[in-house]
Parts: sequence; C-alpha cells; structure tokens
Amino acid sequence: MTNTAIAIDGPVGVGKSTTARLVAQKLNMAHIDTGAMYRAVALFQIENGLDMHDAASLENSLEQIQISIKNDGGKQKIFLNGADVTEKIRTSEVSEGASVVAVNQGVREKLVAAQREMAAAEGVVMDGRDIGSHVLPDAGIKIYLDAPLEIRARRRLRDLESAGRPAEFDQVLNETIIRDHRDKNRKHSPLIQTPDALCIDTSRFNSPDETADEIVKIFKASR
Ligand code: C5P
Repeated sequence: MTNTAIAIDGPVGVGKSTTARLVAQKLNMAHIDTGAMYRAVALFQIENGLDMHDAASLENSLEQIQISIKNDGGKQKIFLNGADVTEKIRTSEVSEGASVVAVNQGVREKLVAAQREMAAAEGVVMDGRDIGSHVLPDAGIKIYLDAPLEIRARRRLRDLESAGRPAEFDQVLNETIIRDHRDKNRKHSPLIQTPDALCIDTSRFNSPDETADEIVKIFKASR
C-alpha cells in the first residue's frame, strides 16, 4: 500500500500536520503525524524525570513505552501507555525534547517500524522529517513543505497562543532555529529534501486548506 501513500516532510512550523490532515480528509485516507510519536517519547522522559540525552535511559524507556494512534473524526489522537496525551505533547518543553530524543537511533528504529506497519495496513498521508527519505521511500508522491524562517516562527507562536500557551516571538524564533539545526544535522535520517520530492513554499498560499488542495491536485495527476 505504501506506493499509494503521500509523504509530507519539512521543517518546524511549516504547517505539515494541519496540511496533511486536510489532504487525508479530502482524499478519505488516514493521517499519521509522526512528530507526535517522538513527542510522546519526550513526554515519557519528562514525566519520569529522565534525561533526554541519555541513550541507556532511552533504551530502557522504549521497553516501557506503548504508543498508539487513533483517528477521531478526522483528528489524530495519540495515546501513551493508554493515556490520551494529544494535548500534553504540544508544549515548548516537549517540542524541544522531541527533537533531542529524535537524534537517538534506537528511538528512531522503534518508531519507524511502527510507522511502516501503519502505512502497510491502509493508504496514508504521513508527515514528519524522514518520511520520503527513509520511512516510505516508495511513497506515491513526496512533498517537501517549506517557508521562510520568520513566517514559520510566527505560525508556531500562533499555534501556542491558540493552545493557551502564549510565548515571546524571539524565544519561539530561537527554538525554531535550534530544532531546525538539530533535525537537519543529526546523524540518523536528518531532514532533507529528496531529489524526487516536490517542494512547495506554503507562504505562497493563503491557508493550509489551499496548500492541501494543491497537494490533492498533484496526487490526482500522478494516478
Ligand atoms: O513535527 P513535530 O514538530 O511534531 O516533530 C517534533 C520533533 O520530532 C521534530 O523536531 C523532529 O526532531 C522529530 N521528528 C523526527 N522525524 C519525524 C517526525 C518528527 O525526527 N518523522
């Protein structure tokens, strides 16, 4: 089924998950936001007072972590050991932690195996950092979403504000720069635009809905 999959990758705050969810709705496919899975691992470390950088601790945690994803009326819900953590994983602390645990090879291997299993079961729109390059290299279409740094940071700021977590622009901008750098320069599956991926600058469109329409058009033309 993976050659019918749509892989959407891109940097922090580009609107991947919102766009991917809308594409999935428009095409009646399942949506998997893989970033939420790295966030769940980070949340486990935070809630148990464990170090994000410690490989032995992460290895131990992976044995105790069960992550599941459910589609609830077109919205993804994520469960960590049975508890709904959909909202809890959206803090700045978890965002930062997710990009740290995502450097660890063991974490990546476990999550990638689960992602491939989900994609094999049904047609999916999957978004993340390594979907086209590593998780689903034979995806039907590969999209790399991008936008200028400042626009992405403003978008993150708006998301935090609407989730009731107001922040300072400069702080969000700095966090965005640090996470982008970590994601693009890590050893295992760094964020890249593969040669077969189509790059879309989301700042060209007025809304994620318009970006999603463009992706649907590309997908239909490829069939
Ligand atoms: O997309 P989101 O911001 O929720 O992802 C959180 C973090 O998880 C990213 O900064 C990145 O480090 C990591 N991630 C990853 N590979 C993916 C998805 C997310 O490394 N496929």
